[in-house]
Amino acid sequence: MNIEGTTKIIGVFGYPIKHTASPEMHNAAFEALGLDYVYLPFEVRPQRLEEAAKALVSLNIVGVNVTIPHKETVCPYLDEISREAELIGAVNTIAVSSGKLIGYNTDGQGFIASLKEDGRETVRGKTLLVLGAGGAARAVAIQAALEGAGRIFISARLEERAEKVTSHIEKNIPSSEAGVVPRDKIKSTLEDADFLINATPVGMKPDDPLIIGPDCLFPHLLVFDLVYNQGETRLMKVARGKGCRVVGGLGMLAHQGAISFQLWTGRKAPLEVMRGALEKKFR
Ligand code: NAP
Repeated sequence: MNIEGTTKIIGVFGYPIKHTASPEMHNAAFEALGLDYVYLPFEVRPQRLEEAAKALVSLNIVGVNVTIPHKETVCPYLDEISREAELIGAVNTIAVSSGKLIGYNTDGQGFIASLKEDGRETVRGKTLLVLGAGGAARAVAIQAALEGAGRIFISARLEERAEKVTSHIEKNIPSSEAGVVPRDKIKSTLEDADFLINATPVGMKPDDPLIIGPDCLFPHLLVFDLVYNQGETRLMKVARGKGCRVVGGLGMLAHQGAISFQLWTGRKAPLEVMRGALEKKFR
């Protein structure tokens, strides 16, 4: 990598930040296209977030990704927020344009793009059961509603958290039906569902337990595990053994990165290069 006076800077704000895979993914993409950009990790403490956001303009930085724990708290410091980011209530990408900070959320779009590419499916008219009610679950559920999903069910440890997401969908995107599923109704819901989506961190460690009973994994289901740091999670292995189609989180990570890349550079991202960089890191 050749950093010169002309090199444009992009990065990621998070705390902690040392586990991020985004620098490898984006720097590989810049190199592949011969673009004079560099992508850097920025460890930003929560109490410094406002200053860091303002500094993007002062330092002439092109944009950043925003990751845990800043995706929601950064919103008040932005000048504009895209519709999907507003609905999701979280931003994972900031682009600086004419001195203004514009916030986007590419996580949900990354999910939809990976579902299409890796799962050969769309959400239109489909029934989804999402496990978890955190930031990723919210991005997936809301983007799925925006893309015309028929029914979106959420099951989470804290039912109030799931209820917040589903009532938000029912209020703002009423074309999709949304509801909370208690743990003891997961199996009967999946009998009639199309997709099971794991949006919890369960599976990030190789010895993590299976998040739901194997008897819930009906062969008609497509199982999408957002976890991306394992080649194949236990959920994916068991689901595959039960005859389900399975998709892991790595494609979604590459696609959300590719959409952000295009927002910053105006260039179509080299998706295969980005995916290759992630595979090298995690496999
Ligand atoms: P988050 O905001 O912390 O939310 C996590 C959710 O999982 C919460 O609902 C939490 O429930 C639930 N949960 C945590 N541990 C659990 C357990 N042992 N059993 C059942 N539920 C549990 O995290 P996030 O940002 O949404 O991320 C969730 C996962 O998605 C992570 O693995 C992350 O790496 C992955 N992800 C992948 C991509 C991608 O591009 N592939 C993008 C974003 C995130 P409580 O509220 O009860 O704690």
